Amino acid sequence: MDLTPMLIGGDWRSAVGTGRTENVTSPYDGAVLGTVPVAGKDDVEAALSAAEAGAGRWRSTPAHARMKILLRAAELADQRASDIAKIISAEAGKTITEASGEASRSGEIIRLAAFEGTQLYGDTLPLDANRGTGLEKVGFTLRQPCGVVVAISPFNYPALLVLHKLAPALAAGNAVVLKPARTTPLTALALAACFVDAGLPEGVLSVLTGPGGELGDLLVSDPRVRKISFTGSTAIGERITRMAGVKKLSLELGASCPVIIMPDADLELASSAVAAGGYVNAGQVCISVQRVIAHPAVSGDFLDALVPKVEAIRLGDPSSPATGMGTLITTGEAERVRQSIAAAAAGGARVLTGGERDGSMVSPTVVADVDPSSPFAQDELFGPAVAVSTAEDWESAVRQANGTAYGLAAGIFTSDVAGAVRAMREIDAGSIHINWTPLWRADLMPYGGLKGSGIGKEGPRWAVEEMTELKTVILHGRPW
Ligand code: NAP
Repeated sequence: MDLTPMLIGGDWRSAVGTGRTENVTSPYDGAVLGTVPVAGKDDVEAALSAAEAGAGRWRSTPAHARMKILLRAAELADQRASDIAKIISAEAGKTITEASGEASRSGEIIRLAAFEGTQLYGDTLPLDANRGTGLEKVGFTLRQPCGVVVAISPFNYPALLVLHKLAPALAAGNAVVLKPARTTPLTALALAACFVDAGLPEGVLSVLTGPGGELGDLLVSDPRVRKISFTGSTAIGERITRMAGVKKLSLELGASCPVIIMPDADLELASSAVAAGGYVNAGQVCISVQRVIAHPAVSGDFLDALVPKVEAIRLGDPSSPATGMGTLITTGEAERVRQSIAAAAAGGARVLTGGERDGSMVSPTVVADVDPSSPFAQDELFGPAVAVSTAEDWESAVRQANGTAYGLAAGIFTSDVAGAVRAMREIDAGSIHINWTPLWRADLMPYGGLKGSGIGKEGPRWAVEEMTELKTVILHGRPW
């Protein structure tokens, strides 16, 4: 298999120091899809020093010129969307239908970010409102890029989550060193090619392939890096927080997202939404429905409506348009999920459907009577299973919804406006969906969790803000 080189500065190349390579394989059938370099210490150094030089060059490029390059990259991403979709589907085991949906959002994310990069407005400060200060002083704020941004992304949305970092960072005038997930580097390299082919200056973007366990500490602890944008597990996020030192951090981490079903809910709507929201991308979505908290008066009817819909999800070859759910990212992950379901059953929960593994696939699963304090509810599952428990009243439903270490997103199904308002006030989550599940995202909206789910927001407007620094300028005139 030919080597797909990584990007360092402006060069597509192999690993300098080590010369090591590794294969990228299909989680569906183990086929070798490509070969990428395994970056080492020397490559990290080369990427960071290229980024330092690139950051200087890019920062002095006017916003309108940066926007022009990004808009060209967006056009290329649109033109290449169907090829990128095939790469996503092959290396992530995601159905081609979902992969096409993901790839088709690329151009729009870049365009949204390109626009936000031209909107770096500041404020005028009313300094004369400060006691003792007259009208002779003028104060205002200026935004500037952070400099070198390290972006580290997970496997589950290998295009979307790469672009939600790259596009705003570049639009705001930063240089970026990207370390994509080891299982899905080919998508990241294909996207990087859109920016390079659009005319991004040398040094402004590097993509290092290889293991995060070896490269991560070197990247995040380097003093040349001013900003780290990480999406992945809470455990790695915590490690990065310890290693980073004084840097700006955006962390999009794990979750165990709840959905509350009130007695006045539309159960047909709720069951259809959960049958999608718990199983998209085989449940490997940070905003996947992991927990359903149903009122006992409707729990049975909800399950009766949910189970046949889940049983109708067709497992199979991710590249076939007829497939409704693909694989987990590795067979090891599939086995971990199977064991979690089996442990929940051993603890007294009832598996109503699913729970079986075949290679890297796990059948879509519904588990009822789940103890809300059990690991099956508390720990992030990241697999195709929904845990259903009951709550007698509002207080205990909200207590359960808020009762994990996470706070990424939540949903509630109710026909009562007062209940909906109370939910948006009392549920501690970064997004609250009324009459839908947490599994919904518009690329322009602020997106990010509370508690153990992270720090900061993505979404182009907010990411551009987080990828810039605010300076205060004061002009000291003379009293007249
Ligand atoms: P992961 O294992 O934490 O890996 C994420 C990234 O971190 C990968 O690129 C990984 O590289 C890298 N990494 C590994 N060790 C590192 C280290 N010591 N220092 C720095 N980086 C390191 O997560 P994943 O399994 O890919 O993704 C699943 C997780 O992402 C779930 O917890 C999910 O909830 C979370 N997620 C959160 C959001 C959100 O918006 N909140 C969105 C999507 C996913 P390697 O691949 O080479 O190990």
